[in-house]
Amino acid sequence: MIQEELKRLGLNEINEGTSTGQNWFSNGEILESYSPADGQLIGKVKASTKEDYEKAIASAQEAFKTWRATPAPLRGEIVRQFGEKLRAYKADLGKLVSYEMGKSYQEGLGEVQEMIDICDFAVGQSRQLYGLTMHSERPGHRMYEQYHPLGIVGVISAFNFPVAVWSWNAALAWVCGDVVVWKPSEKTPLCGVACQKIIQEVLKENNLPEGISVLINGDYKIGELMSKDTRVPLVSATGSTRMGKIVAQEVAARLGKSLLELGGNNAIIVTPDSDLKMTVIGAVFGAVGTAGQRCTSTRRLIIHESIYDKVKDAIVAAYGQLRIGNPLDQNNHVGPLIDKDAVNTYLAALDKVKEQGGNIVVEGGVLEGAGYESGCYVKPAIAEVKNELEIVQHETFAPILYLIKYSGDVENAIELQNGVAQGLSSAIMTNNLREAEKFLSAAGSDCGIANVNIGTSGAEIGGAFGGEKETGGGRESGSDAWKIYMRRQTNTINYTTNLPLAQGIKFDL
Ligand code: NAD
Repeated sequence: MIQEELKRLGLNEINEGTSTGQNWFSNGEILESYSPADGQLIGKVKASTKEDYEKAIASAQEAFKTWRATPAPLRGEIVRQFGEKLRAYKADLGKLVSYEMGKSYQEGLGEVQEMIDICDFAVGQSRQLYGLTMHSERPGHRMYEQYHPLGIVGVISAFNFPVAVWSWNAALAWVCGDVVVWKPSEKTPLCGVACQKIIQEVLKENNLPEGISVLINGDYKIGELMSKDTRVPLVSATGSTRMGKIVAQEVAARLGKSLLELGGNNAIIVTPDSDLKMTVIGAVFGAVGTAGQRCTSTRRLIIHESIYDKVKDAIVAAYGQLRIGNPLDQNNHVGPLIDKDAVNTYLAALDKVKEQGGNIVVEGGVLEGAGYESGCYVKPAIAEVKNELEIVQHETFAPILYLIKYSGDVENAIELQNGVAQGLSSAIMTNNLREAEKFLSAAGSDCGIANVNIGTSGAEIGGAFGGEKETGGGRESGSDAWKIYMRRQTNTINYTTNLPLAQGIKFDL
């Protein structure tokens, strides 16, 4: 279905890595990539073995010696060129993202645009890796701090943003002077190979070592090697909270650093002062966009009782308009889930909603027949629930929206919104300044992202992205997120002929 695009991206029927010109090591078992859009086999990718992993690390270690000594603005120039290549490949890569992952073509293009945006951001950042200078308490002394690269940054990414998450990490890590070893999701391996080919073109054109960007493929076992490896000072892991808890403990056991971007359970509070039209668009896009497979997808709507029926009716009516089908067809709003396991998880969650006392308002179900042959298309569902239900407390990575009623003041809604283990994205729909500011205050949302009159889904690269509690506490992308990719060093220089000690301590010999 996307043969021409695959060809232009340099992908073959069977893709295997060799060390020359690709810096991707894979001699292991075959990973088959099927499109959830039509169930067709797109291509095969060889996974990496333990020996391949060793080669990958050695290559990255070697490249680090050159890269760390390259001035940061020159590193930025390489990232600028990478952004230019992404512009050239945007349509092809966007289509591959859409076809391999199942998100709409528009969202596939949007994901590549995010890669371009973070490259632009990182280019500017490459001239701003600032440290502070301090006044020393000792005469004739100067004190300052500087940031140095860490070394190898290991990136483990999830299937739902198969290219952007890597670039958020890689673009910043590269300008910071780090080299990157990437393990993409085993569910979207072709996206990983395509990206690696693009960055390798840039490195080759600039006569730079391939090991600046290394690809390894496979499932959790190859990821685990990085978590346990003292040669990888930082592991940036995006995925489920279940995975994050394992990776965090393994990295912590060797006192390494981890950057965790894990699951969300995001809510929009809908107050009596909300704009109904904006609420419906924000909530419906948030709940069904990417078939509910965004970490920032809207899972819960916390609606004031005085407007509950009106909001519910408007949302149910909007669900009636949704067109579900092939994500490459731009007339469709909702594409497939990633695979049949995800479909089963969705069905099991709907059963649990019923068992636990929830009231289904819009029935779910698996779609069958022409256009739905992959078996991965499901109907977005809505249920009225209590926030405390066990199933509501968990992230189900599928289009199930929970309606929850609140009464009284906005404080009650905030308590419900915060009353889950995850803390990624949150929003309030209101034209009431007091409610909005309360929501943003220290007593308000406990999430890493808190929006007013915008839904929970999606974010701009300029801000630091991430969440609290079981979302893992990491921050990526904009603001000062670059600092995690560097080590800070405090330097004190004495330009006198005396050696006064700090705190006035006397030590005469
Ligand atoms: P997943 O946890 O199943 O897998 C994510 C990645 O971790 C994969 O590459 C996988 O191979 C690897 N992995 C799994 N177990 C591992 C282990 N023990 N050691 C090392 N690596 C391991 O998640 P998924 O199904 O691919 O993605 C969906 C999840 O990702 C959702 O929970 C979603 O909310 C989350 N997510 C979070 C963010 C964020 O920024 N907070 C962004 C995207 C996705």
